[in-house]
Amino acid sequence: MPTVLVVRETAPGERRVAATPESVRKLTAAGVSVAIEPGAGLHANFSDEAFTAAGATIGAGGSPGPDVVAGVAPPDAAAVARLPRGSIHISFVYPARNGAAVGAMTRSGITGIAMDRIPRVTRAQGMDALSSQASIAGYKAVLLAATRLGKYFPLLMTAAGTVPPARVVIMGAGVAGLQAIATAKRLGAVVEVSDIRPAVREQVLSLGGKFIELPMEESGEGTGGYARQMGEDFLQRQREIITRHVSSADVVITTAQVPGARAPVLITREMVESMRPGGVIVDLAVDAGGNCELSEPESEVVHRGVTILGYSNLPSTMAEDASALYARNVLALLLHMKREDRFVADASDEIVGPAIVTGSPEKESE
Ligand code: NAD
Repeated sequence: MPTVLVVRETAPGERRVAATPESVRKLTAAGVSVAIEPGAGLHANFSDEAFTAAGATIGAGGSPGPDVVAGVAPPDAAAVARLPRGSIHISFVYPARNGAAVGAMTRSGITGIAMDRIPRVTRAQGMDALSSQASIAGYKAVLLAATRLGKYFPLLMTAAGTVPPARVVIMGAGVAGLQAIATAKRLGAVVEVSDIRPAVREQVLSLGGKFIELPMEESGEGTGGYARQMGEDFLQRQREIITRHVSSADVVITTAQVPGARAPVLITREMVESMRPGGVIVDLAVDAGGNCELSEPESEVVHRGVTILGYSNLPSTMAEDASALYARNVLALLLHMKREDRFVADASDEIVGPAIVTGSPEKESE
């Protein structure tokens, strides 16, 4: 029977888990034996007892070791040393940032599969962990901003007079940005949005956002439907146009990213200084270098009364639903890789192949 071990995360601040009782039930029904490291789900509100009731065993999976090890964060050196040779490791590897983990797995004969490298094709939508987690980040960014703002989001007509709605500017309308628009609109804010991909405009309007028009001589869309890297001249013009919107905003949420490149700087120090005291910026691109010149990773910066929040792992602050969605993404991948009595990381598979980040791509767990 093929075996999967779900690890207890050890990375600082990581509260998510790669399985839930629901995903365990589905795996066991599919003939997979699941082991859960003790306490793996505690921070996401899934107890060992709930996992056991769903059919898992609590522990390390026994001998000869699991065929697949599933986690959220990439394994550190100690974790790689514990992975059985020939096994498959699944997590958010982000190989460009975690070369050491990739190298260690390769040297240890482990096949590393990065959830962040699963192609975003229709067939793999159920495995799109980047989207499931980005959507949570967009939602939570708005809630964080709303709790920091000393103002209402909605327009209110009260006996004490009218309160105007909050003005929210969202930079980048990918998965996180679109969820941020929807969330800010649901709270009643006036929402303005900037993006460089033309396809986004209709989506923004359909969510009730206002699209900030930019003078696009060429489409901002590059390969795979993602944004392409724009030149400094364009970014300078974009900043000039955005400044007017940012300076009258109560909240700015930035999500702009370009695959394989540093995130574009869209909010300069001067733009922050043009905001009114009490304004809030949430920079979701902080771990790709940041969209705001003043944001700091995992920190809260206050500059002339404007609070700038730079948190890279907001999904972890909603660990229960983040885990539930991520576990479904991992489950879909596992069922895709499962053969009769084993898991196969097939390098020629259009979904699995591009997600294999280690140098021994055709390993099979047997
Ligand atoms: P992302 O995180 O790479 O970027 C976020 C957003 O920032 C993008 O909308 C991008 O256009 C924008 N951006 C980049 N430079 C900018 C600038 N200078 N100013 C303003 N905005 C800027 O993107 P993402 O959220 O991961 O997804 C982007 C795209 O990926 C989607 O729109 C879609 O085409 C594709 N996707 C496809 C599927 C699928 O199932 N087929 C699922 C999810 C995403």
